[in-house]
Amino acid sequence: MSEPILKLTNIESSYGPITAIRGISMSVPEATIVTVLGANGAGKTTVLKTISGIIDPRKGAVIFEGKAIQSMDPDAVARIGIAHVPEGREVFPLLTARENLMMGAYARSDRKGIADDLEMVFNYLPAVKRLEKRTAGTMSGGEQQMLVIGRALMSRPKLLLLDEPSLGLSPRLVKEIFELIVRINGEQKLPILVVEQNAGTALKAAHYGYVLELGRVVMEDSCERLMEKEDVREFYLGAA
Ligand code: ATP
Repeated sequence: MSEPILKLTNIESSYGPITAIRGISMSVPEATIVTVLGANGAGKTTVLKTISGIIDPRKGAVIFEGKAIQSMDPDAVARIGIAHVPEGREVFPLLTARENLMMGAYARSDRKGIADDLEMVFNYLPAVKRLEKRTAGTMSGGEQQMLVIGRALMSRPKLLLLDEPSLGLSPRLVKEIFELIVRINGEQKLPILVVEQNAGTALKAAHYGYVLELGRVVMEDSCERLMEKEDVREFYLGAA
């Protein structure tokens, strides 16, 4: 097997005196969807913030394409190809949908590539294409979630980090968002690390999963096998 595109080894990250994650090791192989599951406060968001340079870990290493990046700032991490879509759908509310997408390409100068990628994003997101001239602040939650994923794709990332894309969306929209994630991964071979509370949906979409509790990995396996585990079924899938 080839080396994973991303590897975390023994990561510990804190907010002042509060240690949010400890001893976390995980990998994202090329072309794979990996999900991180866990209850509120388990440390899922902190894992993504550590990868994208928002938080510098106190211990451990973040290895991307064989290079240690745990001391890089978020701009540098974005420039080497890691796109982070944070929780909460932060669109630029006064810019149009199209302008929001173009903001994702701000660090690029290849005009032809940008135009091609805009076509590609509109192909994935027909609803956004229909609304391309609308200001993003007037779009629905689901449309805004699609838009921020599209904006991340406009940076032509090598790795996509998604934080709770289903948050606050109806079951129909959650299904649509995850279908989109699977399609992008399948067609672009883009590796995706997605943090979710909606375990059932995430396990169906992803290939491999990690379960966090109180800042530690308590289980990891292929999603098929995780779905069969009694603990996962009872605590995360709500099965009796
Ligand atoms: P959620 O689903 O609620 O986002 P999570 O699994 O993503 O949960 P984190 O947000 O990573 O969890 O939080 C992990 C721990 O770190 C929690 O105990 C949380 O209270 C704490 N924490 C998170 N952000 C901060 C902060 N800015 N300052 C202090 N403590 C924080």
